[in-house]
Amino acid sequence: MKFELDRLADYSDDALLAELRRAAEIAGGSKLTVAEFSKHSNVGVTTLRRRFGSWPAALESAGLSHLYNNIAPATKSRTLARTMSDDQIIDEVRRVARIVGRSSIVAEDLRLHACIGADAIRNRFGSLKAALRIAGLVETAHGRRYLDEECFENLLRVWTHYGRPPKHREMSLSPSEVGPKAYTSRWGTWNKALHAFVERVNADIQDVQSTPFVVPIEKYRAQWPAAPVDERDKRDIRLGLRYTVLKRDHFKCVLCGASPALTTGIQLHVDHIFPFSKGGKTEISNLRTLCEACNLGKGARIE
Ligand SMILES: [Zn+2]
Repeated sequence: MKFELDRLADYSDDALLAELRRAAEIAGGSKLTVAEFSKHSNVGVTTLRRRFGSWPAALESAGLSHLYNNIAPATKSRTLARTMSDDQIIDEVRRVARIVGRSSIVAEDLRLHACIGADAIRNRFGSLKAALRIAGLVETAHGRRYLDEECFENLLRVWTHYGRPPKHREMSLSPSEVGPKAYTSRWGTWNKALHAFVERVNADIQDVQSTPFVVPIEKYRAQWPAAPVDERDKRDIRLGLRYTVLKRDHFKCVLCGASPALTTGIQLHVDHIFPFSKGGKTEISNLRTLCEACNLGKGARIE
């Protein structure tokens, strides 16, 4: 349902592209379909098509060609970087830092996740480091800055402890190890921090569920990045998966029912049902919540 008030005040090319990027960010995911865009956007697809010629052309103009499957990434970086303002490039750098969950990024992160390459950034800002500094992504001298990853891991720990979304003040109590200020200074408000956490969970799930990358056209093969390792074949269980399994299991051990919210000292773990060492996949259907006692009693035995 769209409302008149939600319409953009400004229909310049830049405003439309900014709106497209905003919707893409909310939608998350490795692909942005017209349907998905319509769900999140305040402007119609027709407006974009009329302005930019086609849906892929609109995505390309917004620096989002990686969200449209049929555009080769080798062509995207050069042409797109020229159409992007300094602010847009810096936003893209920040977006990649959020995806990788670190307070700084390297050229490889850009190659894997950005719509433009490190070269384009060096051309514009002199060096990648200079761009990172503008994006506020270089460690400052003023005290320790927590990484997104640490903030999210801590949030998951406290969330599991209470079996519900923690309150802001609870972040200053055990078992929290990162204080509430770290969250509000990083995300602005506590609500936005929770929102960022949920986005991160969704991104993890998306990565695990997306089908393996297939290169469509032989001649582009050399230009495409190497196919990523299937997330299901990694032993490490991503934060988003751990959260999803814990929530599905109501933050309780599925074998004995132990819950940290009811009993102090209970630690919950997310466990491979069919052991990873025996070929079990890291996917939601093969994961479950166990307390430490049940987890240790199990070893790599298959039940
Ligand atoms: Zn148990």
